[in-house]
Amino acid sequence: MDEAVKHSCGLFGIYGHRDAARLTYLGLYSLQHRGEEAAGIVTYDGKAMHTHKGMGLVSEVFHEQTLHGLPGRTAIGHTRYSTTGSSTLKNSQPLVVTYAKGSIAVAHNGNLVNAYELRQQLEANGSIFQTTVDSEIILHLLARATNKEFQDDLVECLRLLKGAFTLLFLTERELVGVRDPNGFRPLVLGRLNKTHVLASETCALDIIGAKFVREVEPGEAVCIGAGGLRSLRPFKDQPTGRSHCLFEHVYFARPDSHIFGESVQAVRVKLGRQLAREHPVEADLVMPIPDSGNFAALGYSLESKIPFALGMIRNHYVGRTFIQPAQEIRDLKIRVKFNPIREIIKGKRLVIVDDSIVRGNTTRARVKSLREAGAKAIHMRVSCPPTKHACFYGIDFPSKRELIANRLSLDEIRTFIGVESLGYLSLDGMLKAVGRPADYCTACWSGTYPIPFGGEGDKFALEKHAGQGRC
Ligand code: 5GP
Ligand code: MG
Repeated sequence: MDEAVKHSCGLFGIYGHRDAARLTYLGLYSLQHRGEEAAGIVTYDGKAMHTHKGMGLVSEVFHEQTLHGLPGRTAIGHTRYSTTGSSTLKNSQPLVVTYAKGSIAVAHNGNLVNAYELRQQLEANGSIFQTTVDSEIILHLLARATNKEFQDDLVECLRLLKGAFTLLFLTERELVGVRDPNGFRPLVLGRLNKTHVLASETCALDIIGAKFVREVEPGEAVCIGAGGLRSLRPFKDQPTGRSHCLFEHVYFARPDSHIFGESVQAVRVKLGRQLAREHPVEADLVMPIPDSGNFAALGYSLESKIPFALGMIRNHYVGRTFIQPAQEIRDLKIRVKFNPIREIIKGKRLVIVDDSIVRGNTTRARVKSLREAGAKAIHMRVSCPPTKHACFYGIDFPSKRELIANRLSLDEIRTFIGVESLGYLSLDGMLKAVGRPADYCTACWSGTYPIPFGGEGDKFALEKHAGQGRC
């Protein structure tokens, strides 16, 4: 994988279907873009939980036989990229435990900002942790709660969490979906005849033929069991504003999904249009950097009336098992994934549009290959503002130091990537284009964090502290 940074996670859950594992597999397959590092499914068959997890893509982790080994009518699944804890099978999800009230599995998308603090308290009281992911803390908190009903334990536990947490729980009786009060990450509810489905994005409903019902609301927990669906409001006395992750719209979610009440592709087209208004330029063609730049480029082309062209082809089959080229042919690496089409590019003044620049390295390499293909001029346009700040809510950006917009001025970035002009969308323009500006988190661009964190927002924090003998 030569792209700059990593994704967060994809969640899928289903209650009451004889093909629960297989449908979960399909759901995860369509959520692959949210995490390519590990995948897992847990099912419950009325007697026991069954788990299969592995490192790699969904299609690499699951086979006919592994799905046969996952009986039951309820299931949850997870695709993972590491946002807390390093990339090991032990840290992959869903996590399953058995405690006083039976077996329970959890799958988490997002990051807790008070993970370190909570873990310290739990360890001081004798808890022993198996993993270094923050999600395990949630299971410990549940296990320690002493109410009669699981539902009350759940509410008690959820109220202790701070940060971004979209969660799925599978218990022996229910499938539960939770969104934190800010609603950082998406979660949608769907229906396949009588079966309820929960998924990170609507593309996972489409793939199994389920109908979109509604989004799980920020601050809501939906409990789906034999009696149907109940909605809880665990945080109702903790009023907070909404903080949907705007980077989900810019890059993360699939363009065929609807999240946060909007069509992702439509938002991207609007961002592209706004970009064209803010940074017009004379050129012959507008070209996306595929695939993340596709819809923003379309918007730029529609607004500027400069023809849209596909001048670079992306190879989609570069998986984890791809053997990296040897040192002496490193330069060819970029072409494994992207190949410019010379007859489209040669002699043309190009506007190239991408969703974001993170470290700048892949952008620089792509610009170089466009030059080699004969581009006369290259104007780069980016459909979000300069990415300058770390994300503590579930997007795995590299450290602040590695973010190019943090180290270099606009003109230095332009020189580094090697283009005639460079234009980023402004924060105001972006919010205006998306609408409902107060509902979004823009921390990675603005540095304004909707939930304060204690400086422990490093994905390896739990490991470092473990290494210091605090475990
Ligand atoms: P850079 O030029 O900064 O090395 O890479 C920019 C590219 O990284 C853009 O095409 C953008 O789509 C992609 N990108 C942005 N965010 C992420 C992410 O979270 N994960 C991955 N794999 N790529 C990302
Ligand atoms: Mg990209």
